[in-house]
Amino acid sequence: MARFVFITGGVVSSLGKGIASAALGALLQARGYSVRLRKLDPYLNVDPGTMSPYQHGEVYVTDDGTETDLDLGHYERFTGVAATRADNATTGRIYSEVIAKERRGDYLGATVQVIPHITDAIKETILYETEGLDFVLVEIGGTVGDIESLPFLEAIRQLGNELGPERSMFVHLTLVPYIPSAGELKTKPTQHSVKELLNVGIQPDMLLCRCDRPIPQSQRQKIASFCNVRPEAVIAALDMDTIYAVPISYHEEGMDREVLRHFGLPDKPEIDLSRWHEIVAAIRNPEGSVRIAIVGKYMNLRDSYKSLAEALTHGGIANRVGVELDWVDSEIFEQPNAVERLEDVHGILVPGGFGERGTEGKIAAVRFARERRVPFLGICFGMQMAVIECARNLAGLPGASSTEFGPCETPVVGLLTEWMRGNEIERRHEGSNLGGTMRLGAYPARLEPGSLAWETYGKQAEISERHRHRYEVNIHYRNRLEAAGLRFSGLSPDGLLPEIIEYPDHPWFIGVQFHPELKSKPFAPHPLFRGFIAAAVRQARLV
Ligand code: GLN
Repeated sequence: MARFVFITGGVVSSLGKGIASAALGALLQARGYSVRLRKLDPYLNVDPGTMSPYQHGEVYVTDDGTETDLDLGHYERFTGVAATRADNATTGRIYSEVIAKERRGDYLGATVQVIPHITDAIKETILYETEGLDFVLVEIGGTVGDIESLPFLEAIRQLGNELGPERSMFVHLTLVPYIPSAGELKTKPTQHSVKELLNVGIQPDMLLCRCDRPIPQSQRQKIASFCNVRPEAVIAALDMDTIYAVPISYHEEGMDREVLRHFGLPDKPEIDLSRWHEIVAAIRNPEGSVRIAIVGKYMNLRDSYKSLAEALTHGGIANRVGVELDWVDSEIFEQPNAVERLEDVHGILVPGGFGERGTEGKIAAVRFARERRVPFLGICFGMQMAVIECARNLAGLPGASSTEFGPCETPVVGLLTEWMRGNEIERRHEGSNLGGTMRLGAYPARLEPGSLAWETYGKQAEISERHRHRYEVNIHYRNRLEAAGLRFSGLSPDGLLPEIIEYPDHPWFIGVQFHPELKSKPFAPHPLFRGFIAAAVRQARLV
């Protein structure tokens, strides 16, 4: 039967609870245990799909097409375990399920209340499909003390009681700040945060203390005695130069040993962290570096492109180079000659995006990459912009655009209302609500033998990648675009949806309709990022 580790956060947000959970998952895995990670988010949106990247950062998409919190991306990157719809729930989703049941009469006339109906629904969500696993790590979003997270805390308190300490453990992440005027690390915020948890009936078993320097033994002792935890269970979560060093650091602090001790499991066999040491060594000792321009819209908010930044780092690991990211707001390229700013980069990436603002600047960046033979990777919206650029500047279709921006003369990118998924036809309607009109999740694509995409993917005939978009490159323009030099090197199995485009006469130019960054791992860099960074290295004439 699965053991449950509940991870809460206190003091302030942004302490890295997602990475902490992912790192613990990686450590338990390195001990030979099976793990699954889950996140419960206290907001009322049913999922983050309709939330602006400004508000919530990236929307991470799973194979089964669920739009989830970006922490699920960390879980997958650290453990390699593919997440599903069951691994992320929000207050909005829990309530909508409970209210739907109430409308159906499932509660047989009972008064429907937060306790027990909402808390029961939360407990079911936590326990769902966990049979046969060694560990389930459940991260509670938000900070203790927030009104919104109370039902989640109540639910895990009850579960802890029902499962008993042999099958449940509470880990609380707090901040231990260094106060320069006192010359000391301060434990008071941690003490207060633990009091908040105790108020809702949860006694943490372990404290993970985020700090910028080692915690002296005396302070550790103080935290332990004030907060009622073993001194060995006060774990310093030190700031790291790379997130991939976090599992190693937690292990050195004794975190996994202490978790095993809590569950009465042996401290054996010896842990194998070689994969993490190799990754960290590659990041810390690069043999040169390349500069990649990312030309997009939400450039001042790095969380909106979390997986993308990580995947580029993975491409760097694969080629043993550092990857310097130059985030450029595409609107600046709408001024004459501004695009020359791209002169000194070794690769240009146009990422996913929505809406018309800044598109002319993206198209200018694509043109620069094509004409100046700079390695180019276009992702989703980036591929659509590359197709529009080709149509306008090479295929003699000056009115080419996407119907995403309104009706246009030559819709080389447009809304498709039905397509095949396996043997089934899926449909969407222009008028249906925003939450339900996207092509989401894993779809297969066939690669054209001999193409750069096919080479890059190690000559695989068929691949599967994750999607999140409404519009498609219109296959009816294929001949016209191919005559202009573009190659359609990846298509959906029915041949109707363009999935990959490239220019055979360019050193490295690929556009993909899907999001390869979602599947890249530090220990298994995605082939497209490996290939793109390798091309950037050649561009920089490092090899
Ligand atoms: N806005 C485009 C579409 O909906 C691209 C989406 C994306 O880049 N994820 O098709």
